[in-house]
Amino acid sequence: MSSEKQVRRRGLMLVISSPSGAGKTTLSRRLMQEFPDVTLSVSATTRDPRPGEVDGRDYQFRTLAEFRDMIAADAFLEWAKVFDRYYGTPRADTVALLEQGKDVIFDVDWQGADALHDEMPNDVVSVFVLPPSIAALRERLAAREGMNAEGVERRMRDARAEIRHWRRYDYCIVNDDLTTAYDKLRRILLVERQKRLRQRHLDAHVRDLLDESGAAGS
Ligand code: ADP
Ligand code: 5GP
Repeated sequence: MSSEKQVRRRGLMLVISSPSGAGKTTLSRRLMQEFPDVTLSVSATTRDPRPGEVDGRDYQFRTLAEFRDMIAADAFLEWAKVFDRYYGTPRADTVALLEQGKDVIFDVDWQGADALHDEMPNDVVSVFVLPPSIAALRERLAAREGMNAEGVERRMRDARAEIRHWRRYDYCIVNDDLTTAYDKLRRILLVERQKRLRQRHLDAHVRDLLDESGAAGS
C-alpha cells in the first residue's frame, strides 16, 4: 500500500441543537461511547470554573483580555456573549481534530449552528433534536437534578424560540424512544463519513486503480 493511502479521512463537524431537555447531551454521550473517533468540542469561556470543572476538558478558561485578543486574531469559528460572559469555539483546535480524522460534536444553539456552517460549510453536518411532545419536554426538564419550577418555565419559553429554527438543519430526529433516536443519529454519522470529500485516501486509491487498469490495457 502506498504511503498516500495512509491519509486519514477528514473528520466531520456534527452540530447538534435542540431545546434544552430534548436529549442532545444523552445522544452525544452515547455516540462518543460507541465511537472512539468522536469527540466533543471544548469551548473557550471567560466565566469562572464551577466545582469539578477542569480547564481544557470542560472549557478553556480565559481572561477577558485573552478572549478579546482571540477575537481580534480571528481565532474563533464563532463566539457569543451569554449572560455577560463570553463563549467561543477555537478555530485551530477544530481544524486540527478534523485533520486527525476526528469527528467533532458541537452542542450549540441555532445561531451557533448557523455561524459554524458559514465558516465551515463543507465540514458541518447539522442535526436538530425534537422532543416527542411538550409534556415530555417538561417532564424531562423537571426530572433534572437541581432544576426548580422557575428554571423549567424559562427553558420551556426558550424552547419555542429554538424549535422554530428546525428547518435550518440537515437532519431532524424526534427523540421519543431513546434507542430508536440514537440509532438514527449513529446512522447519520456513518453515512456522512462516506461522503467523497471526507474520504481523501480515495484520491490515491483511484489513481492506483487507473494506473493499474492503464498498464493492463497497454
Ligand atoms: P439536553 O442536552 O438536550 O438538554 P439531556 O440529554 O440532558 O437534554 O436530556 C434531558 C433529560 O431527559 C435527561 O434526564 C435524560 O436522561 C432524559 N432523556 C433523554 N432522552 C430521553 C428519552 N428518549 N426518553 C426519556 N428520557 C430521555
Ligand atoms: P454554561 O456556562 O452553563 O456552561 O453555558 C452557558 C451557555 O453558553 C449555554 O447555553 C451553552 O450552550 C453556551 N455555550 C457554551 N459554549 C459555547 C460556544 O462555544 N459558543 C456559543 N455560541 N455558545 C456556547
